[in-house]
Amino acid sequence: MKVLLVEPDYRHGSASFRKAATAPDAKKRDDESLWYPPIGLLKLSTFHKRRGDEVTFVNGMDKSVIKESDLFTHELIWDRIYITTLFTFDWKNVIETIEFYKKAVGNSVYKIYVGGIMASIIPNDIFEETGIQPIVGTLNEPGKIDLPGDEEIDSLPPDYSILDNRIYAINDTYYAHATRGCKRKCPWCGVNDVEPEYCEYLDIRPMITEMRALYGDKPRLKLMDNNVLASPNLDQIVSDLVELGYGRGQKTTETIPRTRVIDFNQGLEATHINEGNIALIEQLHIKPMRIAFDRLSYRDTYINAVNIAKRHGFKEFSNYMLYNEKDTPRDLYERLVINIDINRSWKEESSSKAAAIYSYPMRFAPIKDNSPERLNRSRDYVPPAPPRDIDFFQDARWTKRFTRNIEIIKGASHGAISPTPSLALRAIGETYEEFIANMYMPEELLRNRDRHERRRYENKPNREPGSGKVEDFREFILRLLHQQDEVFFEFHDAVSPCSKEAIKQAFKTVKNEEVKQWLEWYLK
Ligand code: SF4
Repeated sequence: MKVLLVEPDYRHGSASFRKAATAPDAKKRDDESLWYPPIGLLKLSTFHKRRGDEVTFVNGMDKSVIKESDLFTHELIWDRIYITTLFTFDWKNVIETIEFYKKAVGNSVYKIYVGGIMASIIPNDIFEETGIQPIVGTLNEPGKIDLPGDEEIDSLPPDYSILDNRIYAINDTYYAHATRGCKRKCPWCGVNDVEPEYCEYLDIRPMITEMRALYGDKPRLKLMDNNVLASPNLDQIVSDLVELGYGRGQKTTETIPRTRVIDFNQGLEATHINEGNIALIEQLHIKPMRIAFDRLSYRDTYINAVNIAKRHGFKEFSNYMLYNEKDTPRDLYERLVINIDINRSWKEESSSKAAAIYSYPMRFAPIKDNSPERLNRSRDYVPPAPPRDIDFFQDARWTKRFTRNIEIIKGASHGAISPTPSLALRAIGETYEEFIANMYMPEELLRNRDRHERRRYENKPNREPGSGKVEDFREFILRLLHQQDEVFFEFHDAVSPCSKEAIKQAFKTVKNEEVKQWLEWYLK
């Protein structure tokens, strides 16, 4: 049987990344900066190869693996094509990819298998659009792909040999699950669609041992469990991991040994962290400690959780903060300030290297939406516009401009808000007023703060003062926000959609000269 495995090309800038990473003079990159491997496809590869099938992997719509049939050529190369899926906001790309490969098998939809996260969350939408009924959930039950033994696929070792290790993060890292699913049913989360059964223990030892025999000892293990702390078998899971050599201080068996590290990369639930289970997982070398802080109302639980973990010797924290859902910009600002305060207090009480929290605001996008707009199919979700009579300063709401500016602030800080309080405050704004002004700020000013900000900060005392445009803009927008009159709404409506088209349209109606001057900045 000839099998084609397809990962849609859904990463931004993938062509330029691929070119740079595979250039003859390219430096070897750390796995953390490479692409996440499509684990489901890699397990399918192992399964098919063990059956004696021929397997090919491609990324995106690759013309080189299809043969156009014409009057004289009716050869159809592939017996099966498996297409994986990820986020629902990649809808358009995924559907185009499916349609592209449908042609490669002469429109025989029964030869195409679509699976993965998006396919498990919105299978009916995919069926309506393509005529293909996706595979829902993990490959751990018989009959999902109609081949004998297919219930074992999920427990097989991923086949790293089909990927380019200059592009995919397979050099130092293994991936596994010690549990599946989650006991809780948070409405915004897709875990219960993808892994509906909560499986509280999976023995990962055989798979990791097999992977080491195949690909050598690798120092990093990413565990993709959704809520491992909820497992009643946590002690067994920890014991398995220590046995595999992921305890604190344990190293690989390579000629030059490297420290083994575990990353629970879906994060640990703050609500489940307590002295008992932290004392258990303390045996493991976990780095970073990922804990989410999705709602300000969880403040006490979150602060308690990170402090318990810190007392048990964890030093590097990554904190994910969902925003753009039911929260407000003020809510996110307050959560960021809580982390800044914790970082400051940890620094003050530490004589050696202090524990530190890196903050990662993560923009919410809905994964399910049955409205005619199908908002789950777009990357650019923002909640519906609020009524005009709210206070747009005290009770500001998310707009496309605001979410864009959060991403710019993150980008300028290399993806995370720094654990150094002075740097973090400069990035987000030293006060709520500055933060809201930053949310409205033109990209040119926000990206190039050194060039445009007059004020000097303690971390760069010798910097030449900037043009002062940042301060001028803050004065302007805070004045408008204080007034919240017609002029404010003209400006707000022009910049909120975050599109040059909206700005150009606004020029046709706006009369206020000062507003016009600032709108020019959004066209730079
Ligand atoms: S606890 Fe986490 S993994 Fe579980 S359903 Fe809620 S968001 Fe999803």
